[in-house]
Amino acid sequence: MAKVNPFRSRLPGTKVHHDNNACTEGNNIESRNRVAGTGGLPKCQRCKEL
Ligand SMILES: [Zn+2]
Repeated sequence: MAKVNPFRSRLPGTKVHHDNNACTEGNNIESRNRVAGTGGLPKCQRCKEL
């Protein structure tokens, strides 16, 4: 696992951003829906634990 630059989904309803490439939730975001940055959203719980 490794820290990566913050990213998030651009889909409506997105409430968190991710910053770890081992996060399954983050990895589930399709690349076309993936955007860089936190978007001002809190970090996802799983990324916090990784
Ligand atoms: Zn995450």
